[in-house]
Amino acid sequence: MVLATMRGRFAPSPTGRMHLGNVRSALLGWLQARAAGGAFLLRIEDLDRARCRPQFLQDLYEDLRWLGLDWDETPLVQSERDGVYREAQAKLEREGLIYPCFCTRTEIARAASAPHGLSDEGPRYPGTCANLTAGQISERSRTRAPAYRFRARPGEVRFVDALMGPQVQDVQALVGDFVVRRNDGVASYQLAVVVDDAASGITHVLRGDDLLPSTPRQLQLYAALGLGAPAFLHVPLVLGEDGKRLAKRDGAFALAELRARGRPPEHVLGLLAAWSGLGDGGPVTLPALVARYRTDVLPRAPVVAREALLLDALGLR
Ligand code: GLU
Repeated sequence: MVLATMRGRFAPSPTGRMHLGNVRSALLGWLQARAAGGAFLLRIEDLDRARCRPQFLQDLYEDLRWLGLDWDETPLVQSERDGVYREAQAKLEREGLIYPCFCTRTEIARAASAPHGLSDEGPRYPGTCANLTAGQISERSRTRAPAYRFRARPGEVRFVDALMGPQVQDVQALVGDFVVRRNDGVASYQLAVVVDDAASGITHVLRGDDLLPSTPRQLQLYAALGLGAPAFLHVPLVLGEDGKRLAKRDGAFALAELRARGRPPEHVLGLLAAWSGLGDGGPVTLPALVARYRTDVLPRAPVVAREALLLDALGLR
């Protein structure tokens, strides 16, 4: 039997300097792919033009290179791929799976009365625009540009996450019809990530578990577009001592900052390995980690990043 090569990826949004939580996801994705002798791709998720900066992108490349996390192939850049997203949208449109939505955020919040159904997209979309007539659509288009929504399929979506185990979500009940193109004309994350992972032949997606609730939506898009879905592995996030997830503004854990303090990458890798069940915190090299990588040791609970431990691990105090 010929085993297809594993293809993993890291898909950062250059909206700030990478902190050690982002870097840990990159490292684990890289390790998963390299330990299997597979390819590892980078994709720049810069659809949110207002928040992305060229400087953050430069820092990101430098961070990854400094750690030794190399990538194969030229990275896809989402802001250059709108044509591809439009093609996918047109395919869904031909199948009657998309409709224009003229609702404002406030209208949606007002219309959503149910206490349940609060997803990461906000309240469940109640389907206000799901059955507009052609006349209503052209009339409303005069005053407001529409967003486009995918008609979420009814029923439970099930999948097995390689780390978090069996997952189930009723997308229609929890999220409702979801946006594939925003009203500012930009493709949504959900659509772009599916189209791009499929276009790149990604077989394994490893990312933070903040995106675990998005996966059922993405699986519905894969099915509707007739695309094969990858395997998923969601790692619990790294939290700060306040219990909140590390944010790109948390300077202490920005990799660029640590690089500037002159510590060798092996110290940072040691810390990331300790956060991943792959080491005791002492300095470690990438080849040693490749040899050591196993999915079943990855923690299933959030890791708390303590600044004191960080300073110790880096020999900074
Ligand atoms: N661009 C997303 C982020 O930075 C990650 C998307 C993904 O891995 O699917 O959070």
